[in-house]
Amino acid sequence: MQDTNLLGLALGLTPPWTVSRAAFDAGARRLDIHLDFAAGSRFACPECGGGGRPVHDTETKAWRHLNFFQHQAWLHARVPRLRCDKCGVRTLTALPWARKDSGFTLLFEALVMALVSAMPVRAAAKLVGEHDTRLWRVIHHYVNEARARADHSGVTRVAIDETAARRGHDYISLFVDIDEARVVHVTEGKGAATVAAFAEDLAAHGGEAEQVGEVCIDMSPAFIKGVADSLPAAEVTFDKFHTVKIVNDAVDQVRRAEQKGQAVLKGTRYLWLRNRASLSDRQRARLDALPGRTLKTARAYQMRLAFQDLYAEDTPEAAAAYLKRWLGWAARSRLPPMVEAARTIRRHADGILRWFDSRIANGLIEGINSLIQAAKAKARGYRSARNLMAMVYLIAGKLDFRLPA
Ligand SMILES: [Zn+2]
Repeated sequence: MQDTNLLGLALGLTPPWTVSRAAFDAGARRLDIHLDFAAGSRFACPECGGGGRPVHDTETKAWRHLNFFQHQAWLHARVPRLRCDKCGVRTLTALPWARKDSGFTLLFEALVMALVSAMPVRAAAKLVGEHDTRLWRVIHHYVNEARARADHSGVTRVAIDETAARRGHDYISLFVDIDEARVVHVTEGKGAATVAAFAEDLAAHGGEAEQVGEVCIDMSPAFIKGVADSLPAAEVTFDKFHTVKIVNDAVDQVRRAEQKGQAVLKGTRYLWLRNRASLSDRQRARLDALPGRTLKTARAYQMRLAFQDLYAEDTPEAAAAYLKRWLGWAARSRLPPMVEAARTIRRHADGILRWFDSRIANGLIEGINSLIQAAKAKARGYRSARNLMAMVYLIAGKLDFRLPA
């Protein structure tokens, strides 16, 4: 029939492959397209690449293809096994419509990849009528292939953070190329070893550990050690948000201790933790009505506001002088949580002040993190950390998947 030529064209078939017949079953809602190669065709050996190998025998296989309207479409072909005088009998793997070992056509896989970048895998699986483990296999293939090709030779500034993998028990660590705003590495755990794994992976992608000059992390001892061990040239900047949080948490501890004897502090937790600007008019009025002069919490709060102002300083020198004054104030405050926070800040002062030169923060990685957590929530979790990590690359890896359009 004439339409078979048209179908062959639509499938992008190249000689010696043609459509031999197409059967449309309205009752079963199926379109079955049968492909075949011209009699007497010879092919290149998949093992040694030598051309002109004759067909030994064939094996019939089927591939799921893009739906034809509401009908499932399937391709069928006898796949030749070739007789190679060097390698013996080998199955032909270079088929124009599908990659090796896949039960889907390339176009179907391209659809899958487009769907899963826009919706949970489970939902995509339901939409195309396949089990999600088959879709995950496709995702892993394209992610691994694109990751293998990825060029990390230009990575010099890196943000590192961990995020919860499953039920908050397991963690994965993210390594973000700050300049390209992409996740270049994801690995299980949140220890120093994750940084070593990143350095190794960087070398496998055309980069080197020594070229990383700036790193932004929180004050986790594991990341500090990991960077010192594995990224020898990196200057450490402690993330602003995490640093301010240390002071903020100390304010909260002061309030909790004081609240036991001060009923007026009941229900004021968020008044002290938020910035004035993000309080409602009523909350602001309540805060202003508290006896600010006598409350320890109010003193701690003033210290927190002053600490935040550190980041408004113009030069590293001015910032260092400002921080020194602040540390003195907090150390003399006689508020144990503030004294303790000041000790932590003092111990990490170099990395905190590094910000005035590097100007890097983990805002980008926090943004990526919330995308990941949103995807996780929509998917109601992932069956394995491996699936989650593939999804991270899919969402934030800026990978080039080289799929047929
Ligand atoms: Zn061969």
